[in-house]
Parts: sequence; structure tokens; C-alpha cells
Amino acid sequence: MIDKEKETNLIFIGGEPTLHPDLHLLIKAARKMGYASITVDTNGFFFNHILEKVMPGEVDYFSVGLDGSCKEINDLIRGKGSYNKCVDGIKKALSKGFNLSVIYTVSQLNIHDLKNMPSFLKRLGIRRFFIQVIGIRGRSAQDEKHKLQLTRKQWAAVVPKVAARAARFGIHVTYPTVFLDNSERFECAAVVAENYFIFPNGRVYQCPLCEDFSLHSYVFVQNKLTPRPPINERQLFQLSIPEGCVMNKLIQPGNLGYDKQGRPKYKIACCLLKQEINPGTPQLIQ
Ligand code: SF4
Repeated sequence: MIDKEKETNLIFIGGEPTLHPDLHLLIKAARKMGYASITVDTNGFFFNHILEKVMPGEVDYFSVGLDGSCKEINDLIRGKGSYNKCVDGIKKALSKGFNLSVIYTVSQLNIHDLKNMPSFLKRLGIRRFFIQVIGIRGRSAQDEKHKLQLTRKQWAAVVPKVAARAARFGIHVTYPTVFLDNSERFECAAVVAENYFIFPNGRVYQCPLCEDFSLHSYVFVQNKLTPRPPINERQLFQLSIPEGCVMNKLIQPGNLGYDKQGRPKYKIACCLLKQEINPGTPQLIQ
């Protein structure tokens, strides 16, 4: 899974990857294989003494999920006691010289707190910030009373402004566009980029939204990445629909809105294609 001709980046995701007792061995092996960057997405608890088992030069980033600038909001979403454990973990990792980024998943439960994150991250000493949007699937998507998904209006009113503010504090910010005007160009990352989501059961997906379905494009056969026959997610990526992302329409239809004529009011962008704001500049780069 490494292409010497291109820059290949590796991200360990979960569940919680630091629960794996051999994660440090995997990180060291990946470094030797020559990945351009190695990131570990974590809840910040840093299980199995991972901070003692790897060196800052072996991990480019620990990316820590934190969904609130205070205990009340974060713990409501991530569980009692998680804020303190996570912030302690962040401080410990920083004191050991690791690079850290924070991932904040925005929903109805914490959008009001997002504005507090830039100054909070600055105080902590975090230089990279990822804002994500919650993706609701299955039965919870139909639960109108406890709806967690954001409207287009909420996202547009809050996220770009907070991102620009964080950039003014010297923080590199990345966030998904989520909603596109009908005139804006839609691109499926599975068509225009190369991302592989590899699961322990050997399934390899190109789209993270497909992962709950047996639609994977590839599977490992005798250690080789082997394409699967149709129908798999690749046939879906080719479809061009007025709503933008096909998988979003299938599994997160609550994100969509239609006018009286039944036409989509906007398109849903690919969750893998993000916008970045560099520190010190309000300018967007794709
Ligand atoms: S999220 Fe949608 S647009 Fe992005 S890779 Fe998946 S199917 Fe394609």
C-alpha cells in the first residue's frame, strides 16, 4: 500500500487505535517502509503507554478527538470524564514533543461552542485543527426529535468564520465544504483522489460512507489488493445525481433539502474533499 512514485500518507484510525497493544510496532514498521506521513487518530487517552513506546520523530501527528472546549459539552458527547483524560493526554503528549492536532465533530449538541475552540486551542498549544460534520446513519437519522445533523444555514453561518478566526491565531484549519451551490462543481474523491480505508477483515473501501455495507471495491487476497466484481461502491461513484454525493443520498438523506418542484436546493459535497485555511491568511486553499 505504498507508491514510491507518489506521496503516500498513512492514518491509523479506529475505533481507538491505541487500544492495539502492537500499535507502536506498526508505527515503526510504517516509518521504515517510507510513508510520507504517519498520523494516529485517537480519543487522547493514549492507551498502552503509546507515548512511551514511540518517539516524536516516528509519528507526524496524533490527531485527538475533542468535541467541546469545556467538560460539560465534551462529556455530554464523549462520555463522563473524557474531557479531563483527553486534555491531560494532550498536555502530556505536547510536553514530550509530539505534534498534535484536534478533530472537532460539529453537531446540534456543540455547534454553539465551536466559537470557543480557537482561543482554547491556542492556550493548549495546538497548531492544527480539523472541523468535521457529524454523519448520522441508520435509525438515528430518522429521529426528528433528537436530530444532530446541522442545516446548511447553521454550517455556513458558523464554521467558515470560526475557521478563519483559528487561522488568525496561527492554527492550520481543515474543514469539509459539506454544502455546494447547484452551480458549484461536485467531485467524488473516489474518482479524483486515491484513498483506501483498510479494515482488519481484509475489506478495502474507497469511501468511508460505504463502510457499513458490503460494497467495498477491493479485498486483500494473499496480501494483494484485489478488485472486487460489480456491484460495489465503484459503480456508485460513477453516478451523477443532482444531489451530489450518491452515498449521502442513500444513507444520510436528512442532509438534503428540496424546493417545491422537487429539485435539490443544493448539493452535498464529498466528505473527503476538504478546504484548508493556512495560518495568518483568511484565504482558502483546496
Ligand atoms: S463521500 Fe460521496 S462523493 Fe465522497 S467518496 Fe464517498 S460517494 Fe464519493
